[in-house]
Formats: sequence, C-alpha cells, structure tokens
Amino acid sequence: MVGANDRHLKVLTMRDERAPPDRTSPVSMWKEDDVLDGRRVKAQVIILRTKGCWWAHKGGCTMCGYNNESILDIGQSDMMRQLEKASARYQGEPMVKVYTSGSFLDENELPADVRDSFFERFSAAERILFESRPEFITKESLQKVPRDKCMTALGLETSNDELLVKAIRKGFRYEDYQRAAGELKSAGIPVRTYLLLKPPLLTEVQGIADAVRSINMSAEYSESISINPINVQSGTRVEELWRRGDYRPPWLWSLVEVIRQGKASTSVRIMSAPSGAGTPRGVHNCPKCDRKVLDAIERFTFSQDLKDLDGLECSCMDRWRGQLEWQGPMRTSVDVARHIGEDAES
Ligand code: SF4
Ligand SMILES: [Zn+2]
Repeated sequence: MVGANDRHLKVLTMRDERAPPDRTSPVSMWKEDDVLDGRRVKAQVIILRTKGCWWAHKGGCTMCGYNNESILDIGQSDMMRQLEKASARYQGEPMVKVYTSGSFLDENELPADVRDSFFERFSAAERILFESRPEFITKESLQKVPRDKCMTALGLETSNDELLVKAIRKGFRYEDYQRAAGELKSAGIPVRTYLLLKPPLLTEVQGIADAVRSINMSAEYSESISINPINVQSGTRVEELWRRGDYRPPWLWSLVEVIRQGKASTSVRIMSAPSGAGTPRGVHNCPKCDRKVLDAIERFTFSQDLKDLDGLECSCMDRWRGQLEWQGPMRTSVDVARHIGEDAES
C-alpha cells in the first residue's frame, strides 16, 4: 500500500513488455538488507498478487499505480500457490517483508486462510513486516497475527491533514494513523512509518518542511521511519502533472536535508531506499552526483551516523538552492527549470 513508492518500480516500468500476469506467482520477490534490532540482516521481500487495495478501486492515492499488478477475480487457491513459490525461495533470512499492494490485514483482499498459511510458512523468520492501511488495525485483527515477531508498516505519507486530503487523496487522516499506531503499540508490535517526500502541489521547500514535520510528529509512534521520495508511476495523477511539467520529483539534496533535520530533532531510526532514483521519474540531482549521494544515503540508513552525509558537493547544488529560493516568490510548484530548459541534463 504505502509509501509505497519504493517497491514496484521495476515491475511497473516493465509492465507493457510482459505477458499477462501469472496469477499463481507473486508480483515480485527479491532479497535485500534491512535492520533488525539494530543489526544489518538479510530480508526476503515478497509482493503478493491480490485483488488490490480497496481504496485504489475507489480512485486511490494520487501517486499510486500499484493496482496495475492486481487481478480482481484472483482466487484463494491462486494465492496459496503464490505462497508455495515464495516459501520455496526462502533461505532462512531473519526478516521477511510482505507487501500486497494493499493491506495484509484486509480479509477481503487477503483471505484469512492465506494470511494464516503465510505465517505458518515463514514461522522461522525472526521478524515479519507487513503493511496495512490504518482501518484494518484493530484489537481483533491483531489477535490473528504472531505479535512477538510482527512489525507493521503504516503508510502515513504526511502528518498534514490538508495534504492527505487534497494532494495525496489518502482516504484517512493523521488521527487514524495515531489510533492504529496506538493499537499496535498496545499489542507490542513495532511500527515502521512510511513518509512521502514532496507530495504533488508542494514546492521543494514545502516538501522538505512537510517531511521534517511529519518525522517529528510520527517519531513517538515509530520504531523506524522510511522516507519515500515520490517516483512517478504509470497511470497516476502525479504522472499527468509530471508529463506536462507541473511536477518535478524531489532533489536528492532535499532528501539529504530531510534526513539531516529529522535526525537532528529525533532519535528514531530514519531510512530511505528510494526507487527510481537517479532517473527523471524519481528523486534525482544530476548524473554526476546521483550515485555518490545515493551511496551515502544507503550508508546512513544502516549506520544512522550523519557523518556519512558529509562532504557531498556538486555543481548542481546551486541549481537546487536556486529552486528553493525562487519557487516561493514565484508562488508555483511547477517545474519551471524544465520549462526553460535549465534542467535538461537531469
Ligand atoms: S493506500 Fe494508496 S498508496 Fe497504498 S495501495 Fe492503496 S491506493 Fe496505493
Ligand atoms: Zn550533481
């Protein structure tokens, strides 16, 4: 569901070239590193194919294209087969992360038997992270998960209700996140909060300020906070804005700034593994420094040491600073640099 920016990009950009989706196979699976109780560990990531997020079927969030991978009439037996394939790939990684392009605890999306079978198959994992919209987090639903090993990802995106309603169209408000996070805390289940960097309609400065404020407001509920700069997914409202030059994904310099300010004001673990980074659709600076900055952010994600972000310089920083300065007085969030050809190389 969530902040959801950071998972399916490869899948989405390749969609048109592929055969019709195999309903008995997960959308995607891979291994990556994550952090468990302060340790860097291997994680198996599984994206299950379901009927999709109920909210997406009502129009969904402005940046979300995940339902492109869903199959409305997918059956329970198809999903059970997906679990078989996923567990065949499992090699005892300490962490398993499961995403459904919706809510793991929505029984209309993921039947109870499939959920229970999932937990059985991955019972050897130390930690299982699943994601859910807040409305499915209840005392009752949390009785149905192995609370000692679960972690829940909540896609808050921003703590600003006006942005949640008007810019993101999230379908819930900050107080709904607070309630769900409170339930999870009472159940002893840690929360990973996903925040969106630079929702549509915001200037670069506003995007930074919004993310920092959201870090501060969600820190008390969170074991970790993942910052997800928008990437422009196919078929979304954000893509419409981007195509006509009315939206530029955030600069990597802005992500670095958010991490610096967020880390300076809270002790919560802050992480970011942006997808689509270094491309026009994702968070980017310029081709000369994108890789270097991304590597530094990755090092910081595991070390939590702001020194890992020191010494990053590039000539494109002046263009970024310029954008921070003139977007406000111009009272616009459109990608002016692109309209005048200044951003041509990025
Ligand atoms: S909640 Fe929004 S971002 Fe998450 S899957 Fe549903 S429509 Fe997409
Ligand atoms: Zn640069």
